[in-house]
Formats: sequence, C-alpha cells, structure tokens
Amino acid sequence: MNAPDPLRALLAATGVLDAWQLRTVFDHAAVGLVVQDADGRIIDANAAALFLLGLSRDELFGLTSLDPRWQATDAAGEALPGDEHPAMRTLRDGAPLQDFVMGVHLPEGGRRWLAVSTALLPGRATGPWVVSSFTDVSAPRDLQRTLFDLSSLGIQLIDLERQKVVAVNDALVRMTGYTREELLHEDGHERFAPEARALRAHWAREVQTHGQFGPVEADYLHRGGHRLRLVFHGVRVTDPRHRNYLWLSVQDVSAQRALEDALRTAAGTDRLTGLANREGLLLALNGLVARAAAGGGGFALLFMDVDRFKLVNDTLGHAAGDELLREVAQRLRAHAGPRGWPLARFGGDEFVALLADVADAAAASKQAAALLDALARPYRVQEQDIHTSASLGVALWQSAADDGQTLLRDADTAMYEAKRRGRGQHVVFDDAMRARLTRTVHIENELRHAVARGQLRAVYQPIVDLHTGVMGSVEALLRWDHPELGTVSPVEFIPVAEDGGHILGLGEWILAESCRQWRVWQREDAALAPARVSVNVSRKQLALGPRLLAAVRAALADNEMPAQALQLEITEREVMQHPEQAQALLRELSGMGLRLAMDDFGTGTSSLGCLREYPFHTIKIDKSFVTDLCRDPQVLAVAHATVNVIANLGMLSVAEGIEDATEVAALQAMGCDHGQGYLFAAPLAADRVLAFAAGAGAPG
Ligand code: C2E
Ligand code: MG
Ligand code: MG
Repeated sequence: MNAPDPLRALLAATGVLDAWQLRTVFDHAAVGLVVQDADGRIIDANAAALFLLGLSRDELFGLTSLDPRWQATDAAGEALPGDEHPAMRTLRDGAPLQDFVMGVHLPEGGRRWLAVSTALLPGRATGPWVVSSFTDVSAPRDLQRTLFDLSSLGIQLIDLERQKVVAVNDALVRMTGYTREELLHEDGHERFAPEARALRAHWAREVQTHGQFGPVEADYLHRGGHRLRLVFHGVRVTDPRHRNYLWLSVQDVSAQRALEDALRTAAGTDRLTGLANREGLLLALNGLVARAAAGGGGFALLFMDVDRFKLVNDTLGHAAGDELLREVAQRLRAHAGPRGWPLARFGGDEFVALLADVADAAAASKQAAALLDALARPYRVQEQDIHTSASLGVALWQSAADDGQTLLRDADTAMYEAKRRGRGQHVVFDDAMRARLTRTVHIENELRHAVARGQLRAVYQPIVDLHTGVMGSVEALLRWDHPELGTVSPVEFIPVAEDGGHILGLGEWILAESCRQWRVWQREDAALAPARVSVNVSRKQLALGPRLLAAVRAALADNEMPAQALQLEITEREVMQHPEQAQALLRELSGMGLRLAMDDFGTGTSSLGCLREYPFHTIKIDKSFVTDLCRDPQVLAVAHATVNVIANLGMLSVAEGIEDATEVAALQAMGCDHGQGYLFAAPLAADRVLAFAAGAGAPG
C-alpha cells in the first residue's frame, strides 16, 4: 500500500518536460516541496511548502534545518534536533526517507503534522541536493493524539521490531506511578510480577501472528512498591512506514479484585448476609473513587436503611430480625448482582450498593426506584408475612473533591431526608441539601456565642382554661435573633443545638430567664401573673440529670420561687428513649415539688398504659391530633379515649395548637379543659403577658 510518491513521479517526468514546464509543475504541486543544498540550506520551495510551514519565501530561503527558528518534533511530540530532520538524515546517510511524521510549530501558534518524504538530487559539483515533499496529516494525527491522551485506559505503544516502548499516555503514568521517561526508556519487564514476566514475549508472538491478544490479567508493580492487577489488551497497528507496533491498552482492576479477594476472606465479609462489610465496601469504594479521579468515569452510591427494622427486632425477636436482613440481602443480590454492582451491609439495617456504571442523577434515580420496588415486596420470615420498605439516599461522584467518606456522608444525609419525607422513597443528594448542611454548620458555629452576645429572648404563650379563657400558666419558648440570619426558628436551631452540645447552655439560660420573669410578674401584679411557668427540657439535659437538678435548684433559689410554680416539659419521644433513666430523674424532680408535663403526646410510640409509670401531672396532646379532631372521626374517638384515661390517672390534659373555635367545642365535649394555641394567643413578649391576662380573664 505504497502511496504514489509525487516527487518520484515528478522526477520521472523530467524526461519529457523542459525546465520551464518542470518549474510550473513544481510551483503548482499540491504537496509542499523544498529543496536544500548539500549544507542543508534551503534554496527553493513551492507555494504549498510555504503554506504548510507557515513561513514567507524570505523567511524560508537560506534557512537550514539547524536554525533554531525551524523547530520541529518527532511523531511522539519530542523536540527533533536539526540534524535529525529528514533532509539532514538523507544528506548524511545518502538514503531517502518515506513518510517520516514530523510536527512543525507554526509562527501563529499551534502545530502542524507533516508526513515528509525525501529524495537526493545527484550530480552537482557541490554535492547532492535534497528535495523534501510534505503532506499535511494533522487532522488524523490530532484525533489519534486526543484519543490517546484523553483515554481513561492506560495506553502503551511498543515498536515490535525494536522491542521498544515509543509512547505512553497520561493515564498509564497515573496508573503505574512511573514517570513518562521511566516508562519509555526501560524495557519494563521487571515491573511485571515475576510470574507474569514471560507474558510480554508471548504477547508479541500472539500479536504478530493473530493481530491481537487478550484481555489478559497480570500483576504489575506500582512504583510505590504495591501490586496492581492490570488487564492488558493488545492489537497490532502498522504505520505508514510499515513498521509494526503493539497498541497495548491497560485497565486497572485492582479495586474490583481486592474487593473480591476481601470477600473470599472473613475480614471483608459480613457474616450474616455474605455481602461485603464496611471494610470490604471501603476497598471497593476507594477503588472507584481512584478510577473516577483518574478520569475513568463517575458512579453512584446508594445508601439504604430498612424502615422500621427496630420494630421487627423488638416485636418478633432477633432471630426474625436476622432473617429479615438475610432476605433483604438476597433481594439486593438478585437485583444488583447481574449488573456487577458491589454490595455491602454497612452496619445494622443499612446497606450500600455501588453503581459503577451510573454517572448521572436521572439514571441513578431510576435504578434507586427499581431497587426500592424490589425491596418493598412482602417478606416471609418465620412463617409470617412482614411488610416493610427501605429508605434510600443517593450520592453521585462528581468531582475530585468527592472522596469515599464524603460520598457516604452525603448519601446518608439524603437517606435521612428520605425517611423524613415519609420512608419508602429515595432522595438524591443535591446542591440544596448541601446548602442546608452548610447552613446547619453556620448555625452551629453561631449558636456557640448566642448566649454571650445576648441574642436569645424568651417569649411566653398563655395556657388557658377552655371554658373561661383564663390564663393559668405560660409556656416559655426560645427565640434567637441573629444579626445576619434573622430570627431563627427553634424548630431549626434546637435540633442543631442538641447535636452540637450547645443545648445545655441554651436550656439553662431559658430556665433562669423564665424564673426571673416569673418573679417580675409576681411583683408587678400577683393577681394577674401566671401561677406557673412551663419550660421545655431537651434530651441532653435529661441525660445529664445532676446538672439539670443543680440548674433547677439555683433558678428557684435565686428568685425565691416555689417549686410548684415551675413546670418542666419533656417530649414523649425523649421519655421513651431511656425509660428507666428518665423515670428516676423525673421522680426526683417530682419529689422536689416541680410539676412535670409530657409534651407532644401522640407523636411517639408510647401507649396510654405507660403513662401510669411516670410522675407526670400534665399531658400535652400534640397539635397534629388537635388539627385532625374535626376532620377524622377516628381521631376524635382516640382523642376522646385518651382524655378519659388521662383524667382517670388523675392527670391534666392540655391541647396544643388550637386554631379555631370548632376545635375548642370538640375538646370541651370530650372533657379536655386546658388549651394553648393561636386562637387564644401566639407566644407573647414578656411585657405583654399581664395585659393579655387582664383582657382574657373576664369570666363569662
Ligand atoms: P413545643 O414545646 O411543642 O411548643 C409549641 C410550639 O407550637 C411552639 O412553636 C408554638 O409557637 C407553636 N404553636 C402554639 N400554638 C400554635 C398554633 O395554634 N398553631 C401552630 N401552628 N403552632 C402553634 P415554637 O416556639 O416554634 O417551638 C417549637 C418547638 O421548639 C417547641 O415545641 C419545642 O419542642 C422547641 N423549643 C422551643 N423553645 C424551646 C426551649 O426553650 N427548649 C427546648 N428544649 N425546646 C424548645
Ligand atoms: Mg413544649
Ligand atoms: Mg408541644
């Protein structure tokens, strides 16, 4: 497949062309033609050559290949010394060259790839001249180069005759840790693990006879000393000079193999389900992150949590819980196994799947939904049908900043969001969630200084007698005014304060402030003043019982306040979290004479039967109940029964969040005597509480 050589054709034509005709052919040839004398000086060039080299006639004439302006590179892009230029080699060796690929830098920037052929023009007294013909091969060459450089696979080009590596791409440099020079200039055999060294010779034979080989897996030593598991795939390519090369593509499968190996050993396996465990997962995850960071394509991490697993465990026993987890693992395996996605049990009832081939949110979302469908079908455990679902968070690898830990954290955050939105669904971690996280961190930092900077304020919401409207007590509620964030709702900052540990400071501040305010109202008008202040107590405060007791004692003593005038509100969830510990502390507080209220009753899991075991004086029925009273007869019936039981236990019921008069009527009818809500009053500034009492208290 010898391309017709235009120069040779031209020379052959001299027999019939006169000098003038020859000149015309020379000037108008579509290939570039340059003639150099025996010293390499350019003495003639045609228009095509001037165009291809980007130089004017004046610039080019007289120039030699040794001139520094005449910068060229070899096919691999390395600088080509002047005496290695094709014309100079031809002069030196006396032999023509064909299709020598050379890059020339253009004066206006950029590079043009030229295939150069040379011929000697003999018979001059001064020595032979040399004529070079140029054709432009930039377009195919650039495309090749781009494929080569941007490939996520490692690529090595080996000259089969000389058994020499002639080119390597960036991906291979990253993959192996060796420098480009090291990869180019040594034969590389010793980098293969000893048992794999013979492979190279074998491949060369394979490729010579069959044109290709592989894929073959072999161990390779990373420059850092550790072993890589690489998959090699080779094809023979032939250049215009009919040289044979081995185009070797190399893929790093160390992470996948490490996971598989880990799975074969106990260290990486979860004994209950046979899936990878946390360690096994991290191996696979780090492998995917490294692959993605090296340009090998993104992936999705799915974090799943079985909904209400604790309930199954608590009601049916641990054996049933274990069986359910094995069943879930089996479902995952059936679904994800054929797609080659690594799976792991992350801990407890949490599972992770790595979708190695899924890189965008839409595709990940689709897969997540399908996975949840598979998990939502009923389970048969110990001859019982169990209906459960899973909540799922998705995190996508998107940038080099995403390491394995970050992805796990993001997917976990998204999973919690899915739970919050009502379980059995999936949520993709996105920028909005990241923004919320950032805000949370900001709030946490700022909350640290809130007390010291005087940014906290207490407001008081009246609790009234539903028949008379008379205010018997008030609930103290925290407000936080931040110069930049504005007034932040306690619904937002209390959970942050709980997690960050600032809640103790906030809780002690409002306790002291409410008691101080109680004393102020007493002094102002003992008749109108609320008999009691009710203060919310958080989970952390309950957990540190002695500290809470000390704070309560100090607040009462400082304001000469009788213990009966202080009520503490504890939510149902908090009480139920550590039932025994809570019981002891509540008894101690009750023993001091304090009043205790269970807050948000109806939002947790406690049954009415449990109420008897705690020394509560008041049960606050949650707003969600009150709102549904007049909409749902079943809620009405349950509420009615609840109010009855509370009364029978000698406790007081208070309905929260009353917003309209129909609710009041329904509550009165069932025997609930106290209420709180916007219908009567929103939380008020301290100096407006007595005015409210004066206006609302009128009997009748
Ligand atoms: P909570 O203790 O159940 O307080 C009742 C919440 O319901 C208050 O919201 C109150 O403003 C609101 N509310 C009252 N009546 C109505 C009504 O008719 N309609 C509606 N839609 N809402 C009504 P707030 O002040 O935003 O407090 C929210 C939660 O933050 C409180 O719920 C409590 O759990 C927590 N919190 C507030 N202050 C403190 C505090 O000092 N310490 C602790 N630990 N938690 C606090
Ligand atoms: Mg409350
Ligand atoms: Mg409440």
